[in-house]
Amino acid sequence: MLCRGRWRRLALPPAPGPGPRRAGSGAAPAAGYEVVVIGGGHAGTEAAAAAARGGARTLLLTHKIGTIGQLSCNPSFGGIGKGHLVREVDALDGLCGRVCDLAGVHYKVLNRCKGPAVWGLRAQVDRGLYRDNMRKEILNTPLLTVHEASVEDLLLTEPEPDHPGKCRVRGVVLGDGSTVHTGSVILTTGTFLRGMIHVGLEKHPAGRLGDQPSIGLAQTLERLGFAVGRLKTGTPPRLAKDTIDFSGLEERTADNPPVPFSFLSKAVWIKPENQLSCYLTYTNPKTQQIVQDNLHLNNHVRETTKGPRYCPSLEAKVLRFPNREHQVWLEPEGLESNVIYPQGLSMTLPPELQEQVIISIRGLEKAKMLQPGYGVQYDYLDPRQLTASLESRLVQRLFFAGQINGTTGYEEAAAQGVIAGINACLRVRGKPPFIVSRTEGYIGVLIDDLTTLGTNEPYRMFTSRVEFRMSLRPDNADARLTHRGFEEAGCVSQQRYEQAVKMKAALEDGIAALKSLQFSVSKWSQLIPEVRLSSSRRSPMSAFDILQYPEANMEILARAIPEPLRKFAKWRELSERLKIEAAYEWCVVNQQEEIEEVRQDEALQLPEDLDYFAIDASLSTEVREKLSSNRPQTIGAVSRIPGITPAAIVNLLRFVKNKHRKAEKLKAFPQTDKYLPGKMYSEKAASQTQISAELSEEEPESTFVKTPV
Ligand code: FAD
Repeated sequence: MLCRGRWRRLALPPAPGPGPRRAGSGAAPAAGYEVVVIGGGHAGTEAAAAAARGGARTLLLTHKIGTIGQLSCNPSFGGIGKGHLVREVDALDGLCGRVCDLAGVHYKVLNRCKGPAVWGLRAQVDRGLYRDNMRKEILNTPLLTVHEASVEDLLLTEPEPDHPGKCRVRGVVLGDGSTVHTGSVILTTGTFLRGMIHVGLEKHPAGRLGDQPSIGLAQTLERLGFAVGRLKTGTPPRLAKDTIDFSGLEERTADNPPVPFSFLSKAVWIKPENQLSCYLTYTNPKTQQIVQDNLHLNNHVRETTKGPRYCPSLEAKVLRFPNREHQVWLEPEGLESNVIYPQGLSMTLPPELQEQVIISIRGLEKAKMLQPGYGVQYDYLDPRQLTASLESRLVQRLFFAGQINGTTGYEEAAAQGVIAGINACLRVRGKPPFIVSRTEGYIGVLIDDLTTLGTNEPYRMFTSRVEFRMSLRPDNADARLTHRGFEEAGCVSQQRYEQAVKMKAALEDGIAALKSLQFSVSKWSQLIPEVRLSSSRRSPMSAFDILQYPEANMEILARAIPEPLRKFAKWRELSERLKIEAAYEWCVVNQQEEIEEVRQDEALQLPEDLDYFAIDASLSTEVREKLSSNRPQTIGAVSRIPGITPAAIVNLLRFVKNKHRKAEKLKAFPQTDKYLPGKMYSEKAASQTQISAELSEEEPESTFVKTPV
């Protein structure tokens, strides 16, 4: 139902004095708002809040205020790569990290077995608490007004001569025909553009279950000449918790203590011991049979539109990897909620068949389905039509953020939202855009991938997409971004800025103090016998070197050398960060060498008959497919293929160089009949890990961990 003309003035008047720092004081546009945001999803809320924090009078227009903070699919935030995005959004004073710290019911750091650079902060959140806290944040943001309305069209005018673009946006037209004038517009309509929901053979127009699609705006974009494509996604059925038998299932408990998302949170809201568990069960041959026997009743699966590769439907998994057990994680939707989200069971079979699938699974034999799973297909914009500030190249001052740009996931949407919000605000003030580079943040990688390479399947963030992942860690997002957010974008509060400055100074002091303490190995062995040191080292070692040893920490060092280390060790957060800095010092140097290696070998020729599915290099199936269909001639050309990860480039480069070396050696010896000149191959096909990565939400490289909770 459209809710027209029901204006709710929910903003406070501009707040002078303390509070968010203002980014300059340029003239406001003629009418009312400087920035209008269309859509109250994850991109829209972050965009509106960032623009308002930056000092712009902002209007958020959305179909239903009640859906602000709504999690359309899984009730969880973060994960591998995505956790980095949440931390970076938080470093720019975005909302989702703080709200997760007020709503989580199960916090878990994924990838713990690896280094902190790729730790994936994740939280299972209480759906209701997340929504309520997000709404509270939005409705209490100074300078931000929220209004329930459907935007049907854009108001356009002559372009500004000094910018590219064939016209300029100057406002929006609402469903009731009224207009709102503004300096910039941000479009964040998610899956709503010509959204079409599919269940079995039935389909009906909708942006997501229970919400109307957005047709008028889709037509506007088409009329303006934007290139759009079609993507799909899906969600699993929901189950009644009290009908599930958890007794025989594998339990996964939460972390104790839980790690907060936000740099501002000392702790999360829930007591560690009150956190809820998740449970693991599996599909079986009977489940597979039901899916296979009924493919003809499943339109969504038969359509050729592309869905999310790393969060595939049950049908896609069964078709692609038959005769396997597939994981199903039973995740609680909230502290008091009786709803369970079965992650891994996304499907679009007719509801009665979904029920059969459910009861075929161990522990779910008597489970009651509360809501069937469904699929949604929607228009998305080719993001190559955007600049790095997320402004359209075609229509000036029109910004796009979130799923409309071809991404999937709340975190990807939120990250784009913050950047679009900042830039829409800077644009009306005539200030330079705020760009995060690939060397500065995962946000930079995400936006650079989208705007330079585009995407033809729902894009998801992974650590393996990032070249500089040793330095772009979740622990140091504030050091990378907060000062820029404060000084250039004006979207960071004074309190956060001061906290980040204090931490940065303390880190620098701590590192200097640790480096200045130099002793021989034997002296260190006397001082800290609990740390086993390599006795072969002749040169003196600094306390910073010592901190790299797994058993070493600031507490041990401060016990041995109280002056000057005690004051650093007393600050728990600082101690942890010093340890991480020490552990990564050499990795950062190595990383620079890898980058240099690829740069130097850009012209290296790749054999034309290389069988990418067979070669014994650590490459995901996605990368193998892309290499095989693109057939690049050089390493440089590989790096320009959309979706090829930096790690994959290095692995391929090393494989090819190794083969070249072996071929050179062989030339020096008589050839045996086993050697096939010019053909590089290996007995090993894509490894089990690579196949598994396709089946789950996990990292596409061979380095992922198994536990998704
Ligand atoms: P949305 O959250 O979709 O928000 C769009 C907003 O725009 C809504 O508030 C809507 O009311 C508003 N709007 C649209 N048109 C108009 C208009 N004309 N006027 C006013 N307001 C308008 N992500 C995953 O990571 N994994 C998954 O498995 C997954 N499955 C999903 C399954 C389904 C069925 C859906 C719908 C989404 C799924 N997602 C999944 C995606 C995740 O929900 C989105 O990536 C994320 O919500 C995108 O945020 P957004 O802000 O871009 O858009």
